[in-house]
Amino acid sequence: MLVLGGTGEARDLATMLQADRVPVVSSLAGRVSDPALPVGTVRVGGFGGVSGLVGYLTEHAIQAVVDATHPFAAQISGHAAQACTAAGVPLLRLQRPSWREHPLSGEWTWVSSHAEAAQVGTSLGRRPFLSTGRQTLRDFLSWADRYVLVRVVQLPDWELPTAWEVLSSRGPYHYRNEHRVLAGHQIDLLVTKDSGGPLTQAKLQAAHDLGIPVLVVSRPQLPDGVPVVTDPDAARRWVHARSGTGSLHPDDAVASPAPDR
Ligand code: NAP
Repeated sequence: MLVLGGTGEARDLATMLQADRVPVVSSLAGRVSDPALPVGTVRVGGFGGVSGLVGYLTEHAIQAVVDATHPFAAQISGHAAQACTAAGVPLLRLQRPSWREHPLSGEWTWVSSHAEAAQVGTSLGRRPFLSTGRQTLRDFLSWADRYVLVRVVQLPDWELPTAWEVLSSRGPYHYRNEHRVLAGHQIDLLVTKDSGGPLTQAKLQAAHDLGIPVLVVSRPQLPDGVPVVTDPDAARRWVHARSGTGSLHPDDAVASPAPDR
């Protein structure tokens, strides 16, 4: 089994499979210097594109792949779909539920890219809180001359605008913290992406309670034809079904959903 990781869901799945004595390798991109590590065997670094991943699958006799990467890690998901098709290896997408279903989602402004968020957000607030992640910050450089509160797990390797204030921390984040961050910095716009799941969603309720508008970047589209589950336990059952040690309930996996915009 190969689990493409970098998420809490991937770590949970690795823990379950290890307990089930399923041989599993977790793969991380190596983006952060002190990653939260899954249990068991871990490999770090890119595969070298689709052909590199095909080579890895073949060389290591991988029998199935779970793509449990972050919803915005679109490139590796695309590569996994192409490589698994080429190598004839079954692939499952494990992706946490979208915030489209969040009870407050109807109040938010949805955009289709970070670049669009930078454009639209200019007129929505004067003191934005940018929580879209380190890799998206260049998309907001048109805001270089204004105050922006940025929160990242790890600073980028380039210098951020001096007008920006940086909080460096890793979730999960709780309501009280998020309320304090937003109120304490007089934030008047929350910019986020549809990472989904519960670990970073407290800011959404805090923004609502403080009357702060929310701008959300929609998820990239999933590759066609890859079955999707939303929780690690369903992925675990899929793995057992592949190895003949269990069965996959028909409700557990669905065909790739339509893009959510
Ligand atoms: P990406 O843009 O989709 O992928 C860029 C390249 O990084 C891929 O082509 C691949 O290189 C390599 N890569 C990505 N994930 C990998 C993995 N799990 N194992 C081995 N190689 C991987 O990815 P990203 O958005 O930079 O995300 C990188 C990692 O951070 C992922 O594991 C993801 O789950 C995690 N993460 C991302 C976000 C986010 O907001 N994007 C948030 C939290 C965690 P090759 O082409 O050389 O194989």
